[in-house]
Amino acid sequence: MMTPEHSTMLVVGAEVQTPFAILCISANYTIRAQAFVGVLGLRHMHVVYDVPHSLNRKNNSTNSPGAVRTRTGSNPETAGGSESEESMPKQSMLQTKRCPRCRLLADQGSAPGYCTAHHTLWQHERRAVVAWAHWALATRNVVLLDTETTGLDNEAEVLELALLSTQGEVLFDTLIRPQGPIPAAATAVHQIDASAVAHAPTFGAVYPRLVALLRKRFVIVYNAAYDRRILDQTCARYGLPPVRPAAWHCAMLEYAKFTGVWNAAKQDYTWHKLQGGDHSALGDCRATLATIAWMAEANG
Ligand SMILES: [Zn+2]
Repeated sequence: MMTPEHSTMLVVGAEVQTPFAILCISANYTIRAQAFVGVLGLRHMHVVYDVPHSLNRKNNSTNSPGAVRTRTGSNPETAGGSESEESMPKQSMLQTKRCPRCRLLADQGSAPGYCTAHHTLWQHERRAVVAWAHWALATRNVVLLDTETTGLDNEAEVLELALLSTQGEVLFDTLIRPQGPIPAAATAVHQIDASAVAHAPTFGAVYPRLVALLRKRFVIVYNAAYDRRILDQTCARYGLPPVRPAAWHCAMLEYAKFTGVWNAAKQDYTWHKLQGGDHSALGDCRATLATIAWMAEANG
């Protein structure tokens, strides 16, 4: 497939049927094309690749092999959503995809559908994630943490806690008997009920060991904000100071950046559920480690 870097482009005003227009050879062709459309005050534009073919207007049929590939787009300054995408051939619809971050035309080579500028930005961010994954696997005082809890609200407590080294060594793995009840909805997620924790230690009993294990450690959690909050409020229940490792890192945010799917409503990368987790604290630590190892193996 022809890449933007090698394509010659012809911009044609859609409201004027004859091509009066502009030829350019450009890597950032969509931006330039939109700039031209803006300058000319056109409502729509047609971008025609393979200009030497398009000069032979008799061959300008989208059904014939080697046909001119066209792209139609609205001028973002003046468009009122009047273009009928339903009436377009599928090929044209693909080519009018817009970047979810800025609404400029998407780069055809961008898997998440970004414009050229945002695709480049995402690639830089993705490389940083790969570097972070390498750092996590190679640094001795990094540990993975996961908890199972009695719920999601501000009364929820830690019910199970595990720590795993990035070499896969289990540093800590215990059930914890909570002060409050375990709602059935929570048990449905992790299968831990009151009978399972009847003889387990309380959070207060495991706290000194936990503090010692996390001291001067870099702690990675899949959704760190959630586990930190539940840990903090469990500490508060027992009148204990919050556990304070050297730093917290969130593998979920790194994985979201790595996959690069944009959430337009949140204006952020889409968060994903932990792949391969089993809703046990240790199982989810292992799944987080596998996710980090998988990202580290990617071509940066
Ligand atoms: Zn963009």
